[in-house]
Amino acid sequence: MRNILVVEDSPLVLKILEHLFRQEPELQPVFCASLAEAELMLDTSAGLFFAALVDLNLPDAPNGEVVDLVLRYRVPCIVLSGSYNEQRRDELLLKGVVDYVLKESQHSYEYAFRLIHRLESNCQVKILVAEDSDATRHFIHRVLTPHLYQVLEARDGNEALRLLQEQPDIDLLLVDHSMPGLSGFELVKVLRQQMKRHDLIILGLSADTKGSLSAMFIKHGADDFLRKPFCPEELNCRVMSTLERRDLVRALKQAAQFDSLTGLYNRRAFYEQGIAQFRLALRNAQPLSVAMLDLDLFKSINDQYGHASGDLALAGFARAFQAALPDALLGRLGGEEFALVSSLDSGALVEILERLRAACAQLKYAVGAPPLSFSAGLYHGPPEDLESLLHQADTRLYQAKHQGRGCTVAYDATRAC
Ligand code: GH3
Ligand code: MG
Ligand code: MG
Ligand code: MG
Repeated sequence: MRNILVVEDSPLVLKILEHLFRQEPELQPVFCASLAEAELMLDTSAGLFFAALVDLNLPDAPNGEVVDLVLRYRVPCIVLSGSYNEQRRDELLLKGVVDYVLKESQHSYEYAFRLIHRLESNCQVKILVAEDSDATRHFIHRVLTPHLYQVLEARDGNEALRLLQEQPDIDLLLVDHSMPGLSGFELVKVLRQQMKRHDLIILGLSADTKGSLSAMFIKHGADDFLRKPFCPEELNCRVMSTLERRDLVRALKQAAQFDSLTGLYNRRAFYEQGIAQFRLALRNAQPLSVAMLDLDLFKSINDQYGHASGDLALAGFARAFQAALPDALLGRLGGEEFALVSSLDSGALVEILERLRAACAQLKYAVGAPPLSFSAGLYHGPPEDLESLLHQADTRLYQAKHQGRGCTVAYDATRAC
């Protein structure tokens, strides 16, 4: 839960904000209608506020005095203003407010909430500023700080490279082109050989007026470019939009790889990861185990206790599966069918599957429902190819079903003949 200080006197705006806060259960607003009230609140509880939304025109503070108050208490400040004034906006941004939002429409208020959420995720974002000019480096630092990013600085390309190697969790690099030693272009070239776009975002900077420079930066592997001098808002918008793009790509990758109900790898990702494990095992001449697991009489669970209970059973099974085999590659191949690849031998896996069977029988997924049970087919052998070992395991799973379900049929090809 995050507390948000709202300093606003207009009943209409308050109504809109109250409505929006009701849709954000993780954000708790504290409303003040004047500078005096806000001062009292900050004086006693400033440390409790994650951010503030403030109106520039209050009955006892008609000229934005509330901004200085909030910034004095080091609370990130988002300004809500009834009118647009460019000079006022620039002054406020240089003072260190997060942003200046016009009270125009529902979209403006939604933008303010997007900013609050962005601030929450920014706390985890590390930005490295590689720039030899002290003035520009300090300016960038000052502009980024109100957004709660963790900001690091490097004075030249070599120092930037060293920091990136020491701290691989840096998310974004702002890099000047002309620096002593390793130039911005050279640095980007070296970095792109090691790191993909979603591992490190790169924004190029240069005072050069030639239009071709931005294209050059992007061709070398930068994600975007800013020509100096730039205004604080432009820098923040570029940083925010590249981070949002990166997060979207990550979310898409996550959705493409993992099954949303169980959190296990989906079929496609299981095969991709499995093939990589097989290649490695083949190179090391190590045998591998593959197992197929299928929940027993699952259709009747859905029929008798409802699909939602079936979903609970699947999710519960997946949690137990992961707890039993933390080091194996696990996947949901479809429906109520699961698979694993492991370097453990057949005997060890049979034992683990028996313990999993006992854990499954204890799972609660619907009132009065029978214990959850599964059948398994296991094959241990040389890592020829994933598909044929899965087929071998599936044949054993079929046998387990025919033997009455709730059991494992295992075959160890390394012990055969
Ligand atoms: P067997 O022991 O022979 O495997 O019998 P079974 O009933 O488990 O097998 P069957 O293949 O006939 O039925 C599988 C059922 O799994 C049918 C389908 O509705 C259900 N199922 C598949 N995916 C989901 C899911 O995501 N959620 C739920 N609740 N049910 C699912
Ligand atoms: Mg320079
Ligand atoms: Mg089944
Ligand atoms: Mg099935």
